[in-house]
Amino acid sequence: MAEPIRTTCPYCGTGCGVLAEKSEAGWTVRGDPDHPANFGRLCSKGAALGDTLGLETRLLHPLIGGQRVSWGEAIGAVAEGLAATIAAEGPGAVALYLSGQLLTEDYYAANKLAKGFLGTANVDTNSRLCMASAVAGHRRAFGADTVPGCYADLEEADLVVIVGSNLAWCHPVLFQRLAAAREARGTRVVVIDPRRTETCDLADLHLALAPGSDVALFNGLLAYLGASDAIDRGFVEGWTTGYAESVAAAWADAPSAAAVTGIPAADLVRFYEWFAATPKTVTLFSQGVNQSSAGTDKVNAILNAHLATGRIGRPGMGPFSLTGQPNAMGGREVGGLANQLAAHMDFAPGNCDRLRRFWNAPAVAEAEGLKAVDLFQAIGAGKVEAVWIMGTNPAVSLPEADAVRKALARCPLVIASDCVADTDTMRLAHIRLPALGWGEKSGTVTNSERTISRQRPFLPPPGEARADWWMVAEVAKAMGFEAGFAWEGPGGIFREHARLSAFENEGRRDFDIGAAADADYDALTPFQWGERRMFADGGFFTPDGRARLIPVRHRPPVAVRSAHYPFRLNTGRYRDQWHTMTRTGLSARLSGHRREPLIEIHPSDAAEAGLADGALVRVESRHGGYVGRLHATPAQRRGDLFLPMHWNDCFAASALAGRLLSAHTDPISGQPESKHEAVRVTAFAPVFEGVLIAGAGLALPGIPWWVRHKTAGAEAVELAGDREEQAAALLAALDGHFGTPLTFRDPARGVARFAWMEGERLRAVLFLASDGRPEPARSWLAGFIGQELAAPLERAQILAGLAPAGAPGAGPILCACFSVAAATIAQAIAEGKLTSVAAIGAALKAGTGCGSCIPEIRGMLKVSA
Ligand code: SF4
Repeated sequence: MAEPIRTTCPYCGTGCGVLAEKSEAGWTVRGDPDHPANFGRLCSKGAALGDTLGLETRLLHPLIGGQRVSWGEAIGAVAEGLAATIAAEGPGAVALYLSGQLLTEDYYAANKLAKGFLGTANVDTNSRLCMASAVAGHRRAFGADTVPGCYADLEEADLVVIVGSNLAWCHPVLFQRLAAAREARGTRVVVIDPRRTETCDLADLHLALAPGSDVALFNGLLAYLGASDAIDRGFVEGWTTGYAESVAAAWADAPSAAAVTGIPAADLVRFYEWFAATPKTVTLFSQGVNQSSAGTDKVNAILNAHLATGRIGRPGMGPFSLTGQPNAMGGREVGGLANQLAAHMDFAPGNCDRLRRFWNAPAVAEAEGLKAVDLFQAIGAGKVEAVWIMGTNPAVSLPEADAVRKALARCPLVIASDCVADTDTMRLAHIRLPALGWGEKSGTVTNSERTISRQRPFLPPPGEARADWWMVAEVAKAMGFEAGFAWEGPGGIFREHARLSAFENEGRRDFDIGAAADADYDALTPFQWGERRMFADGGFFTPDGRARLIPVRHRPPVAVRSAHYPFRLNTGRYRDQWHTMTRTGLSARLSGHRREPLIEIHPSDAAEAGLADGALVRVESRHGGYVGRLHATPAQRRGDLFLPMHWNDCFAASALAGRLLSAHTDPISGQPESKHEAVRVTAFAPVFEGVLIAGAGLALPGIPWWVRHKTAGAEAVELAGDREEQAAALLAALDGHFGTPLTFRDPARGVARFAWMEGERLRAVLFLASDGRPEPARSWLAGFIGQELAAPLERAQILAGLAPAGAPGAGPILCACFSVAAATIAQAIAEGKLTSVAAIGAALKAGTGCGSCIPEIRGMLKVSA
């Protein structure tokens, strides 16, 4: 076997090293034992990367207006379109919208073109949606966007506080590192989250705070620390400003902290006591903190507690922002946000001048541009007339998604570069440019602990796909900027980026990787920029070198519940899906974990609303609706709903979270409040439900609710309708496509089943039921699609849905590595045979692969105990 290719996982901000290896069976991946982020571990998503390398959904050629064109024509059209817009409307009428999925080199090239040569700072990124509040909080406190610590701190801490993060599902390998440390040294863990998530598997204390009340909670902590003499006076006096004002603000909130958070006072005090008594404390925070109209204040409330106790920059202590995307940090380093310039510089005149000289750039933008939400509103208002969207899907991910779609539909020039041919955003693009995907592109990414790693190619470019940096450089050259964009490859871009970080730096800016400019790019091994831990001895990047404690006060979320919209909606991620599913949706084993979106609600709320567990329900806000299956669980607070953010119009009808959300943003960071909306929930009341299993991409005319998912080489579509005619129309369409089916009907039970054959070969099956969801074993049925069914018995067995015992696909898959169904584990537990994670692993293999499912297995064991 050839040497494995060392690369990096393209999903979460943990940034795990991956070894890609070619065998006769194709490419497989495993964790890189030498990578400092994961030391060989991978989670279920990383482990399934090999399943997602097919080309069936790829964009392979440039398209203009849906017609295939040459690269020369496409580049010419982009260059002419941007130039004409600038000539007519000025540079502010042009925008780029980028992605934390881009490599640093792609990001650098795009920013350089826009902010240095086109003269527009309207360059923002989907990272605005996940960590802009952390950036703003860091800059307010530290004078720079610096993550002070490293992953090893999780293993050296005595107390780990996890705020607004389902670490077990969103950063599973870090969760595993923490679980191992806890096992070895008894690390105490506090989880602060409105939901009782899988992360609570490790929690000594779970504080189920009211959504949006984090500032009140941490102000209570700061007041407690001040009152209990847990302050590091030397650090505060030597290295900070703003302590007295911040404690005064904290005291204004502290007396009502229990009432505002809804947490019993005794639990709050227990947390405060633990924090005060534990020098080695790490506070991890993520989207639950950041995605808020008070996100920046929440971040600073956390930083205040660490600065007041001097718990920063030393082993096992510090505030730690977890980034959602693989290269959100790299994007921040090159100025991917509209309020930043490259190399962590802001728009101060000296920085603009420095960039102008370094780049020899003719039109450096001198003021901040439009942040994501404002940018798409400006497109809708006709103030931005040309936008280039790279590697992201704003028609899905932004709040008020329908307004975003309308904005793109009216925009005179929408350019989209992506590796996927069909996304909700690509459908709205005039010019579509085929980009390289993971395994094909070459460059670097930076993870949450500031470690820069290579993503290396191991697959040839498919079709005419090209690197994003190449497209940017070609457009720049076509616009007359040859000299600034004459790179021959990503290595040249990285070297320029590294030199810029050191240019006239002299220790004044945190980001300096100048030493890497001379490194062998191809052989680059992972390295962390800055000190291992920053700020151990102060040295902040503010003008006076001191960190700033920021006085903050609790502000409730903007959306207010009412009699019409009595529930608070929270949105988030699932363990085995990534963003808008364009990659993870290709994997049957990942799709098996949650084959459709669930709407989580407290059982008492469901009962009061007359909604049955497992029934389809409709969630509505002032902006739109969403249909999903109700999951009643005590993990939810009373009055709160939760639903996932992954599904979109390519994978489902009526399951787009962004359609429900208001575009309320944090006034400092501009980050949208994606975790809080006022909604109502009502019964969907289908008259039939069904599952269709066939090859991919069948149209479903008139069906109001459907969800597609991969299963065993075929596609399963869960579907439902609220009128009989809809089922009749679907049957007519399928008959038109496949011919007359074999049919089984049992009107008394409201059951109808159909199997379409082509000769002896099975093409499709449809199971309909008028009394809830039909439950044939989906993967078992899918295994017959395309197969010859010569024996009548086999056909009868399929129409009867009579899967043999142990057939795959009867329900959700819990262990993605070994395809072990949740029902199989539940049955073994119920029979009393298996009473521990180890016993389940030994008997069923579940949990013995990547380990991502262990918290769920432990949860099932706890429920049964
Ligand atoms: Fe990828 Fe999982 Fe590692 Fe995140 S934790 S980088 S998704 S393998």
